[in-house]
Amino acid sequence: IYILGIESSCDDTSASVICNGKILSNVVANQEIHAKYGGVVPELASRAHQQNIVPVIQQAIEQANIDKKDLNAIAFTRGPGLMGSLLVGTSFAKSLALALNIPLIAVNHMQGHVLAHFIDDENQQKPPFPFMCLTISGGHTQIVKISDYFTMEVLGETLDDAVGEAYDKSAKILGLPYPGGPLVDKYARLGNPKAFNFTKPKVDGLNFSFSGLKTAILYFLQKKVKENPNFIEENLNDICASIQHTIVGILFDKIKLAVEETGIKHIAIAGGVSANSEIRKVLKETETKYGWTTYIPQFQFTTDNAAMIAIVGYLKYLENDFSESEITATARLNVSEN
Ligand code: ATP
Ligand code: FE
Repeated sequence: IYILGIESSCDDTSASVICNGKILSNVVANQEIHAKYGGVVPELASRAHQQNIVPVIQQAIEQANIDKKDLNAIAFTRGPGLMGSLLVGTSFAKSLALALNIPLIAVNHMQGHVLAHFIDDENQQKPPFPFMCLTISGGHTQIVKISDYFTMEVLGETLDDAVGEAYDKSAKILGLPYPGGPLVDKYARLGNPKAFNFTKPKVDGLNFSFSGLKTAILYFLQKKVKENPNFIEENLNDICASIQHTIVGILFDKIKLAVEETGIKHIAIAGGVSANSEIRKVLKETETKYGWTTYIPQFQFTTDNAAMIAIVGYLKYLENDFSESEITATARLNVSEN
């Protein structure tokens, strides 16, 4: 079974062909344009998708070494995301499915992040049900309980900023270019995580909050820079390591609580921030420390990619779960909604 996946929810245009759950191609075109604005500009993202979508899909089909007539279905991201971006992928998927006379499969982007763990790949282990997934991305921070492919429940989530936003906003305060998350991670590896102390927010239950941290970092740096204008340059590694230490602490306090409450010890991570080196390391350590079994996705399946959309498409194909041609994109969609 050949499935073409199309992803265009934010600022990456991506297409992937998978065959029976194995990746044949996974092409991602990043939009560089947003870097100079310090964040994603929706109108520009939509236009760039328009330009990229045809060549990206062509490349994905070529790399897979198949003809588009071989495709059995087309899966596309229906939401959540930026409406103008989603519309490009949605319209294209609909037209192509109509032209090839094959089924259309709408995919929830957040289910895609989680179910990327089921891509058939020798470098990845598939989690057994039920498991918990800490989904950490540019727009979401959630602890999700997955009882079956399409039975998901949010146990806790952020009340304000997502963890990716916390990384990117901290990076911006430090004068680093967008998206700053990977850079904070890079400098953090060279610094002392205990150099500076940022208090963790007090949030009940399994929910998170990251907006206070961003403000704390801003005030801290404003004060330090007043005393020493070169403070940031001179302490960049230590500042990044301390920010990272705080963020990772917040995440693991909650996932530990979730394990206590549910008794589920199969823990996966997903989303762009799951590429983070410290999160991966600390999660791995829980195997010997607490007896958890952990599932860490390959780097290419962490940030937005169409392979994760294609695998959800494949799982839905097996259940004959196809979409009507009237299906529309939606900016908001909970991970529990199929
Ligand atoms: P969502 O999936 O919630 O709609 P998104 O698709 O925009 O959001 P992703 O592409 O999954 O988000 O993730 C992008 C985020 O991941 C950015 O905030 C980026 O800074 C962050 N990120 C990527 N690599 C790292 C890293 N190594 N350390 C920390 N953050 C990282
Ligand atoms: Fe995403």
